[in-house]
Amino acid sequence: MTKKTSHTKFNVSEIRKDFPILSREVNGKPLIYLDNAATSQTPQHVIDVIVDYYSKYNSNIHRGVHTLSQEATDKYEQARQTIQKHFNAKHANEIIFTSGTTHSINLVASGFASILKPKDEIIVSALEHHSNIVPWQMLCDKTGATLKVIPMNDNGELEIDSYKSLLSSKTKLVIVNHVSNALGIINPIETIIKLAHHFGAAVLIDGAQSIPHIKPDVQALDVDFYVASAHKMCGPTGVGMLYGKEEWLNKLPPYQGGGEMIAEVTFEKTTYAELPHKFEAGTPNICGGIAFGAAIDYMNSIGFEAIESYEKELLHYATIRLLEIEGLHIYGETSQKTAVISFNVGSIHPYDLGSILDKLGIAVRTGHHCTQPIMDFYNVPGTVRASFAFYNTKEEIDIFIDGLKKAVMMLS
Ligand SMILES: *Cc1c(COP(=O)(O)O)cnc(C)c1O
Repeated sequence: MTKKTSHTKFNVSEIRKDFPILSREVNGKPLIYLDNAATSQTPQHVIDVIVDYYSKYNSNIHRGVHTLSQEATDKYEQARQTIQKHFNAKHANEIIFTSGTTHSINLVASGFASILKPKDEIIVSALEHHSNIVPWQMLCDKTGATLKVIPMNDNGELEIDSYKSLLSSKTKLVIVNHVSNALGIINPIETIIKLAHHFGAAVLIDGAQSIPHIKPDVQALDVDFYVASAHKMCGPTGVGMLYGKEEWLNKLPPYQGGGEMIAEVTFEKTTYAELPHKFEAGTPNICGGIAFGAAIDYMNSIGFEAIESYEKELLHYATIRLLEIEGLHIYGETSQKTAVISFNVGSIHPYDLGSILDKLGIAVRTGHHCTQPIMDFYNVPGTVRASFAFYNTKEEIDIFIDGLKKAVMMLS
């Protein structure tokens, strides 16, 4: 590590100094970044690791005997171990580097094409991101399997009784996100996994939205696949992970053919490399993988317990203040939520609110958040989504609420 970051006590003004982008201005106003569910900001520690890589030991991994290649290989494999420890995987070779959540999901979906048969069933939830719907639809098209959907209720919770009635010996796979990116709802994945296993189905959990807030333990969860992107937890874009139980990863065929994933190649027959390399064809995002490890180290230096309890405070405060605004409706209201608030104000178009907030330096997301089925459920074209991170403050929430009140006045 170039800079050993250590926060003994949660101190948000100290933490904010770790993020250079937080001191920039947007439209002449201090940036207030409330779009963390789309991507998180990058601390100096991770930026330093990226600069260090390209300034000191940029080279290809696993191939060269030379010093640079060995340094890069060591750091890359250390990052894999950091990820393994963080998620408590049994073996480092159960961690596959990918380009992100979307890539990880497609890798598993593509592997199941050789396993599923017509009349098999797979279950997804009504709360999924498009990237956790479309690959499974494509898999069903390819195999003749049927896609079933766990419905949601008005509070944004999954209907577990309906889920139970969907499960049968035909169910081969259950796919649910840990936390909904559109609503922030934390799904009861322990129960979902147990029930699926009772019927012999494998479970894939999309952790893209949980990893910035929660530290999952894949062995305690007994989950078969867990996928995530580095950029949602202070890492760079273009890199992510697939955790898979060794027995599953051995069962699935390789996803892409190429260099690095082979044991031996002849024109008659090629044999594949052992895990994890079997799924890592071609030159990977080496720097990204190393920076992913650094991002995990950074977040652990702050501590997930501290992050969770601070973000809970932010969520509580922002919810109360938002409800001061007449006609404001929040989608997804349960006690099991991360610091994400999706809302509309009367019939004002979310895009118009977002544009005015941007003029005030405040970044929120507007639209369908890659979850059109959820928007259809609530019968809205989209929402405004404010999503908070551990580096946001109550003062920022106050400025956001003032800005929002101004925008509502202008638009109604
Ligand atoms: C962001 C997100 C994805 C997609 O992640 P990519 O990094 O774009 O591949 C999938 N699912 C959820 C819940 C997300 O929040």
